[in-house]
Amino acid sequence: MKDSCYILRREYLAQWVSALIKQGDVLAPVATGDGKFAFEILEKAEDLRLDYTTTTIPPTQKAFMSVGEKVISWKKVEGRTVFEAGNSQKPLIIFGMHPYDIHALKAWDETIGEKKGDLADPDYVAKRSQTVIIGLDVIVPPPDSFCASLGTHIAEDGYSIMLTDLRDGRYFFEAANGLLLYFAAPYLEEAKKRDFELREQLREKTAKQYPKTLDIPKEGWGAFLEKRILHPFFEATGELCVACAKCTIVCPTCTCCNLREEPALDGQSGCRIRECDSCQLYGFTKMTGGVISRKTPGARVRHRILDKFDYHHGDAPSCVGCGRCVGVCPADIADPVKALDALKEEVSHE
Ligand code: SF4
Ligand code: SF4
Repeated sequence: MKDSCYILRREYLAQWVSALIKQGDVLAPVATGDGKFAFEILEKAEDLRLDYTTTTIPPTQKAFMSVGEKVISWKKVEGRTVFEAGNSQKPLIIFGMHPYDIHALKAWDETIGEKKGDLADPDYVAKRSQTVIIGLDVIVPPPDSFCASLGTHIAEDGYSIMLTDLRDGRYFFEAANGLLLYFAAPYLEEAKKRDFELREQLREKTAKQYPKTLDIPKEGWGAFLEKRILHPFFEATGELCVACAKCTIVCPTCTCCNLREEPALDGQSGCRIRECDSCQLYGFTKMTGGVISRKTPGARVRHRILDKFDYHHGDAPSCVGCGRCVGVCPADIADPVKALDALKEEVSHE
């Protein structure tokens, strides 16, 4: 269905959000007190901050990559081993997700979601099936972002509701899913033609405000990078990398994790714990026998760039241009736009 469109006045926002909080956990942007924002489970509607710019940790990682979470636990009962799922799959509403993070969630679905069949992560599939998305158009593009050049500044699907702040005390409210609409229905009025036009104008204006541009078209990324596999940029940049893994921890499309077994010392129970992992760490590719396939920091830097712009996990992009990696890198080398610009320079091996 092409969606139903309404107007929600700002004065009714808290009432609607309070109704949602009663239905389940609402993960939404809140102020952290230092001028920044973070996705947290809302205690009350008044904490919601739809004027947020971005968050360091993406909502995808908050919802699906909880560090230290139990994936499964087991115990011995009368001589038998009984397994229990570690997570209760509670309904979750992710509220206020920016379009680039909605695109990132599509990358999760394509990498480890249901459509991967036997290769899917069952824990993710279970959580995802209980999750609904309420999107929010960007007001001020995040620092270092380049979403407009990737087409991830707007989401056409992947949400139940998309809100746009019309900056006149009203939200444009596009509903693709009837259930959440039900909770908002008392507060909605019909969107008029001029409201559609205003939303379009605001979207176009915001698209021009992204601070960075990636000027290589998507269809050219593979050929561009494959010609530059041996470019000295990678080893030179690797020399500066301190392998802190921040660039992958904050990346909304990174799904790699480690599983650690934690048996109790009496051998009667135990659990399996999910931990973040990163391709930027030395031991990431370690195999039986101690073989490590990406030994040098340069090889790991190259892998990250190829993973984002060359390897195909599906239709969704592996880089959505959010700029988060740029801001957290202590060595100032994680910026994908700068990396691709540097790779344009001629090299002697070509
Ligand atoms: S590589 Fe950087 S800019 Fe691209 S999605 Fe990941 S964190 Fe965002
Ligand atoms: S954030 Fe920077 S220094 Fe840390 S692993 Fe990534 S590229 Fe290396």
